[in-house]
Amino acid sequence: MRKIDTRRFVRATRSTPRDINRQILLNLVREHQPISRADLARRMDIGRGMITALVDELLGEEAIYEGATVDAPRGRKPKMLYVRTRDRLVVGIDVRFTRTYVMLGDFSGMPVATESFDTLVDPAALVDALVVRIARLLDDHGACGRCEGIGLVVPGMVDQRTGRVLNSPQLGWRDVDIRDALALGTGLPVHIENAPIACALAQMWLGQHGAEAASDFAYVTVSDGVGVGIVVNGQVVRGQGNTAGEFGHLPISVDGPVCLCGATGCLEAYTSNIATLKRYLGRDLTAAQTRDLLRSTGLTIGDVLARARAGDARATAAVEETAHYLGVGLGMVINALNPAQIIVGGEITALWDRIAPIVEDEVARRALTATAAATPIVPELAGTSPRLRGATALVTAPVFAAPQVA
Ligand SMILES: [Zn+2]
Repeated sequence: MRKIDTRRFVRATRSTPRDINRQILLNLVREHQPISRADLARRMDIGRGMITALVDELLGEEAIYEGATVDAPRGRKPKMLYVRTRDRLVVGIDVRFTRTYVMLGDFSGMPVATESFDTLVDPAALVDALVVRIARLLDDHGACGRCEGIGLVVPGMVDQRTGRVLNSPQLGWRDVDIRDALALGTGLPVHIENAPIACALAQMWLGQHGAEAASDFAYVTVSDGVGVGIVVNGQVVRGQGNTAGEFGHLPISVDGPVCLCGATGCLEAYTSNIATLKRYLGRDLTAAQTRDLLRSTGLTIGDVLARARAGDARATAAVEETAHYLGVGLGMVINALNPAQIIVGGEITALWDRIAPIVEDEVARRALTATAAATPIVPELAGTSPRLRGATALVTAPVFAAPQVA
């Protein structure tokens, strides 16, 4: 039951019922494709005339297409319907503390090409570099005119109304605009979002864990930083001023290491990839010193994970300590939010079979009921680039979202 906000509402119009049915139909095609008009009529329990009209509208807009016919038990062979994804392109950008990743992909999140470069923390310089790279990427793949937008994920809190980055401890940004500058430079619409929220959106719209994951879960990203995207009743929780979900900056020890946010003992300072790399390097470095060292040596979190997999003791110890603190963090998420499930995304999932017992032990020690302790913790498949999929979802999700009414 949602209370109507009498100061901020969207009034129903003559076309509202049709708009809602159109979106329901589009989502049924997305989830059940290939699907026939007869099956859609059955599932929506509306007449064939209305189905034909809605399908024609979506075909006209090229949101869906008719594929091959299938054998029906009797009578006419129905033409099956599909959501058009393959030739609709999106540029996804993942800005991190160390590197920035750029992907050209299709509407389903399937990559066409990916590249990366050292992150420039000066916003104007970063935008300039992105404009040049995106133009070249689109040109190289003959994608000019077929790209429907740019999804940009940043390690920080974003005001959804203005698109401004409110605070990015990793980049040292406060109240910075790059959305409008990037849109101006590329001539494409740009959607910007906090990275964990974008990953949660991708889970809802491009998810691999089934429809049950779509309405109530917490998405934990472990990257150069650590963040949580919270979804309740199919909606992202942003908080009053867009700073909800910042579990990465909750302290797990008040006297702990200094975090990029300026405080001490934050979860992020114990569990991020930077924290794991610092531990592996065995030197008491700041995050910025670690970044410089990584850039000069070329060492990556992937290298440390591979060495742990191969049995290297120092790498194993560094990763296992991260797993222990990650368990502490997931325990906090479970006790604070009681989600139906937690999805973990990030390079560390490549070693999930090894670290899961450590994470689960810590969660079990901290969860307040047996049910809470049994909260499913699902790792993203390693190598799926969840943050770039998240960036893609920023462009594709609005196409499938429910119309806002009331
Ligand atoms: Zn912090």
